[in-house]
Amino acid sequence: MVDLVLKGIRKDFGATRAVDRINLTFPHGKLTALLGPSGCGKTTLLRMIAGLEDPTHGRILLGDEDITALPAHRRRFGMVFQSFALFPHLTVADNIAYALAIEGVDKAKRRARAEELLELVQLPGYGARRIGELSGGQRQRVAIARALAQEPRVFLLDEPMSALDAKLREDMQVELRLLQQRLKITTVVVTHDQREAMTMADQIVVMSHGHAEQVGPPQQIYSRPANAFVASFIGKANFLSGEATGGRFRVGEFTFEAPRAPSFLTGSKVTLAIRPENAVIGGKGPNALPARITFIRDVGSTRDIYLSTPVGEIVVEYGAGESLPPMHVGEDVPLQLPPETLHVFAREPEAAA
Ligand code: ATP
Repeated sequence: MVDLVLKGIRKDFGATRAVDRINLTFPHGKLTALLGPSGCGKTTLLRMIAGLEDPTHGRILLGDEDITALPAHRRRFGMVFQSFALFPHLTVADNIAYALAIEGVDKAKRRARAEELLELVQLPGYGARRIGELSGGQRQRVAIARALAQEPRVFLLDEPMSALDAKLREDMQVELRLLQQRLKITTVVVTHDQREAMTMADQIVVMSHGHAEQVGPPQQIYSRPANAFVASFIGKANFLSGEATGGRFRVGEFTFEAPRAPSFLTGSKVTLAIRPENAVIGGKGPNALPARITFIRDVGSTRDIYLSTPVGEIVVEYGAGESLPPMHVGEDVPLQLPPETLHVFAREPEAAA
């Protein structure tokens, strides 16, 4: 049982700091998703773990072994790229067994191993096919099988679903997750898709501007976002700008209670956030305010009610199964932001990088 550990990892490309002071543990046998917007440094971090990029600073450890300077081919890590990077002129079996052939493993053993891996990724009997004869999902399975051929110590995947269409992507997320759980292999997946990260990960690292903003299990990140960036990147949220005042929070002429908020000095600038499914139309009690319906979006599985309020626009989301009184655009309704569902974050300076 060895964890993969990053200590103070930094990467500069000239004047660009792509990754900054990352300290992370990837627990043995668990799947960690590196999640963040384009350019946040997730691919650079993965490439450093793979040994394809040298860190400017910091150390990478696998258990007690310091692998910071170990060349990529000696790490025994399996990697699946965005493009799958399969060899089009080789058969499926030869693609899968490619690294074994280089290692000098004999042909019969290679064939047996390729067949075993094809079973594992649910493509039994496909060994003799050409890559060009496979669908996108099948190619991805071959890329996964190839990465697993040498029994890697760590499995790394960079946007593995991005070449697949939406439906197939969702199926493959579940399939990959089940495979990873079966093999209990320490896995790191780079993605910019929060649903993908939530579906597959034991642990999510939310990244922004080269930093880890928050690290934790998916549900914890969703229900306890560490800051406004995380709250907006994972799931949806309504944001209000306000100011702390004696343990409560003023937004315009309204004062809100938020018992779960950390303590702030009076006068501190704060951002209040509430998930669309937590605000309650018709709700009474603390944190109630008047609202007017401006738009109703019914997409079948959810209904979003857009409301104009004295503190700004607020969207409330209802699931298809939830019963709702009839509502009309233009109608005035009471709205409540239940105190225990309100998140409060220190407002970061506009120009923060
Ligand atoms: P994406 O989702 O778009 O792939 P990312 O989160 O994976 O983005 P990286 O590719 O790691 O981000 O890039 C992080 C930063 O480092 C970006 O500003 C990028 O322009 C820069 N960068 C990455 N690779 C290099 C390189 N080889 N040379 C110079 N700058 C680079």
